[in-house]
Amino acid sequence: MTHASFQSRFSTHEACRAHLEALRWRGGVVCARCGAIGEAKRLSTRPDIWRCRSCKGDFRVTDGTPMEGTHLPLNTWFLAIYLLATSSKGVSAMKLKDWLGVSYKTAWFLGHRVRQMLADGSAGRLAGIIEADEPYVGGVKRKGRDDDEDGSGRPSHRGRGRARSTVFVAVERGGKAKAKRVASHGVAAPLWQWSNVKGSVLMADGLPAYRWIGRKFAGHLTADHKRQAYARTDRRRGIRVHTNTAESFNSAFKRAIVGVWH
Ligand SMILES: [Zn+2]
Repeated sequence: MTHASFQSRFSTHEACRAHLEALRWRGGVVCARCGAIGEAKRLSTRPDIWRCRSCKGDFRVTDGTPMEGTHLPLNTWFLAIYLLATSSKGVSAMKLKDWLGVSYKTAWFLGHRVRQMLADGSAGRLAGIIEADEPYVGGVKRKGRDDDEDGSGRPSHRGRGRARSTVFVAVERGGKAKAKRVASHGVAAPLWQWSNVKGSVLMADGLPAYRWIGRKFAGHLTADHKRQAYARTDRRRGIRVHTNTAESFNSAFKRAIVGVWH
């Protein structure tokens, strides 16, 4: 959807409310208090509010969603969702503030809520061809305690250099990506939870961390960067062996950190 068509469809609170009501209540209005179906009537004086005949309770279409209890008009929420969902490199709270015409604090809060909505948690395991990679993210290399940080010739006791984090990334080719900060040993451990191990083929670099778990997969192919075999074809399976999908996820992720969260 283009920005223009999004704006013409969802420019008012009422249009967004009607869209949500149609999405949530396809089979009749469901009371958020007692669950009765088709028992509620919209209040003529306050059209956001529905009153249930069954339990006499009042509710809104946003009840039970991350937008419950919001004081913002729904078109502000919709625009925030649109902007965050369509920018692959992320959006800073500062940008959101300008685009939405809200305070920085509100923009910051909205950004967090919407990112939470976009994450679908652990829903669905990765399957098929799964590419794994383990980039370092953020910080600078930690300095040793005995480094002469301040140039005084004495060891510094204040650890100024922040440690970089190891992030483990697994991407289903043509599908979803999952990422998690991990300890530097046993980086590949999240694969157990994330993937349909028996029915999938793992592609990763030659790190020893993949050796044991790789044997549990239906196939384990190594894309060896050192030998400059960035992409080769596995003749037996007829598939290309590389981790380019995982690496492009990582570079988008790193650009987002530099561009938005520097
Ligand atoms: Zn009810």
